[in-house]
Amino acid sequence: MGRYTGPVCRMCRREGMQLFLKGDRCFMAKCPVQTGRPPPGVHGQRRRKLSDYGAQLREKQRLRRMYGMQEGQFHFFFDKALARRGVTGEVLLQMLEMRLDSIVHRLGFASSRAAARQFVRHGHVCVNGRKATIPSMRLKAGDAVQVRERENSRALAQPGMESAEARGIAPWLALDKTAFRGEVLHLPTRDEIAPIVNEQRVVELYSK
Ligand code: SF4
Repeated sequence: MGRYTGPVCRMCRREGMQLFLKGDRCFMAKCPVQTGRPPPGVHGQRRRKLSDYGAQLREKQRLRRMYGMQEGQFHFFFDKALARRGVTGEVLLQMLEMRLDSIVHRLGFASSRAAARQFVRHGHVCVNGRKATIPSMRLKAGDAVQVRERENSRALAQPGMESAEARGIAPWLALDKTAFRGEVLHLPTRDEIAPIVNEQRVVELYSK
């Protein structure tokens, strides 16, 4: 299946919750989920009772859409998480959070994960002093992410950084605003990530 290029708010409406796909706009009163717009489609307003499978599928779609991943890549991530030690759901969340695009977004260098992916692909960031252009690259504790010392790169990162700082930087990251540099302090715990989805249902779905 190809990449989804339609309106992103439609995905939140479909899932019935805010997935925060549009950066600062998601915190404004005109967010369609906040204003109570129904799910898309002719039968969007119909109330349906979800089966177990349906509920598991919805949770998976929410998590996948939140991180902007396609099904194949998401399933690949799940298989990697399954092979690791620990609680699979929590490991999966940690792996998703440790992606370079996710960290660039959390640090505020880009306003959304989609913008962060483009920011990385266009060569605006360095990881541990070396240019990095792969958004799915996974970082580890101690890694440093910095916006490259170029006027246009830093001008692009500035506004998002201000709003991210105002909302609060994730506890597993540290941001040095003047140096446009962030660091991964440790692997996030489930409580720190505070997922808005039930990751256990995703595990149940893929374990069938
Ligand atoms: Fe649109 Fe953001 Fe609201 Fe989702 S959370 S519906 S992306 S404005």
